[in-house]
Amino acid sequence: MGKLIIANWKMNLPVGSMAGITSFAEKFSPAQKKLLVVAPPYPFLTHVRATGFHTAAQDVSSNEKGAFTGDVSAELLMQAGVNYCIVGHSERRQNHNEGHELLAQKIIQLLNHHITPVFCVGEHADEHASKKTNDVLSAQLHALDNFKDKEIIIAYEPVWAIGTGLNAGPDHIKTVHHYIKQRLGNDTHVLYGGSVNAGNAAAILALREVDGLLIGGASLKPDEMVKILAMV
Ligand code: PEP
Repeated sequence: MGKLIIANWKMNLPVGSMAGITSFAEKFSPAQKKLLVVAPPYPFLTHVRATGFHTAAQDVSSNEKGAFTGDVSAELLMQAGVNYCIVGHSERRQNHNEGHELLAQKIIQLLNHHITPVFCVGEHADEHASKKTNDVLSAQLHALDNFKDKEIIIAYEPVWAIGTGLNAGPDHIKTVHHYIKQRLGNDTHVLYGGSVNAGNAAAILALREVDGLLIGGASLKPDEMVKILAMV
């Protein structure tokens, strides 16, 4: 696998509308589209896939099927042709109180339906300042204890870097990715996320320990993404 680039659109669309998806897609060549995984809001997964991108869901239900109004199961994501699914993004951990057991259930559902989980970990600003990053990550990674040898991608996203314009520096990223690989195995794919844009992506992608990027804000801007794809 080369470096993987995932666009997390969160609860947004390019230029705020469905028409924006079409104009976004028009900026990429067919070859570039193959290099990008787009994670749009649920209702647009099939539309984005039809424009030629691989897709990721931003979340999944921890349940198999049934009376769970508002949830979307891994089986339904599979039917929508979804390739990857973000699990445990800090916004879900914070806004929906998602913890280890729930996240592990979500991973089981995804693996059962051949969708690759992209498991997010990262420390808060105060934890970063008090040098507790490894302790925080170690606790978060316990959710994966029962999934040794399964294909799970890790996204290291320091919470203080998400949407703040303060991306982590190369030394910090290198050290943390090295720690994660030591813990889970050297062949584990570890993406970096947190205020990545076309201006800082090259320095981050140049790190041997970085296997790709999870991009939020900048991923809604096709010109930024075309520039970043040219770096992989
Ligand atoms: C994210 O939400 O996953 C993210 C990395 O956001 P941003 O790039 O905007 O910091």
